[in-house]
Amino acid sequence: MPTFLSILPSRLRSGLRQRLATRLIGDPSARWAAVDDHICASLLPADPALDAALAEGEAGGLPPITVSRNQGKLLELLARIHGARRILELGTLGGYSTISLARALPEGGEVVTLEFDPHFAEVARRNIAAAGFADLVEVRVGPALETLPALAEEGRRFDMFFIDADNRNLSRYVEWAIQLGGPGSLIVADNVVGEGAIVDPQADDPWREEGGIEGVLRFYELAGADPRLDITAVQTVGSKGYDGFALALVTDLAAPPSSSADTQPAATEPLVSATTDN
Ligand code: SAH
Ligand code: MG
Repeated sequence: MPTFLSILPSRLRSGLRQRLATRLIGDPSARWAAVDDHICASLLPADPALDAALAEGEAGGLPPITVSRNQGKLLELLARIHGARRILELGTLGGYSTISLARALPEGGEVVTLEFDPHFAEVARRNIAAAGFADLVEVRVGPALETLPALAEEGRRFDMFFIDADNRNLSRYVEWAIQLGGPGSLIVADNVVGEGAIVDPQADDPWREEGGIEGVLRFYELAGADPRLDITAVQTVGSKGYDGFALALVTDLAAPPSSSADTQPAATEPLVSATTDN
């Protein structure tokens, strides 16, 4: 028996739900942000280096799409828990998450971070140097589908990946991470929920990236069928709105699933420019 809500077009339906929720608990996104403020004020120390990185990003005209302060701390903790020594990040922006990851490194560790936009990369290099990590972090400029093969050719290996670039290439990036990491490596992929757009075909792309929703849906389809990944995803709300991240451990199963044939890393993949809102 269809309910009143279920017979409405989905966009109207989610609009009604949103309005109902707002009636009941006030503006939910304001509350999420206030709780994030409370979490950060209570649990995290003052952080002049990250404050400065944000301010420099703003001054440089970078979009405000870094991970939040408490999400950055989660990345740092995950890297520590995993004992990561060599981290590869896709999507540097101004280096905010890069600094969080670099903080987790032991003596002799390294972060390589890939950024499409030369201006963003320049801001990031300055921020990373100001935070004291110039020697541990390498920023590489270009479309990730070009810089990833170069890393492979150099024989570079990594034990943790933070994928936070363009969503349309997400499943390709996961395949590259499996190749460059191998069994035991940890993959964190940001922005895999996008205000729930993944279950609403009518939704506007919340990341304002052409092909972003399709890219994330393809990721779910392929990752879910991939025996090499022990994986989950978690929804998040907070000062950065409603989104989520996926967390995967690469297992020692060697064979890729047959359906992933077209995500194999290949120099012939269409290269995609940076348009993302991640
Ligand atoms: N990780 C950052 C935020 C990254 S925002 C933080 O939390 O602080 C996403 C970044 O990915 C943007 O800077 C964008 O320019 C970059 N990007 C988009 N497409 C890309 C591509 N094809 N290759 C490399 N970087 C890309
Ligand atoms: Mg992100």
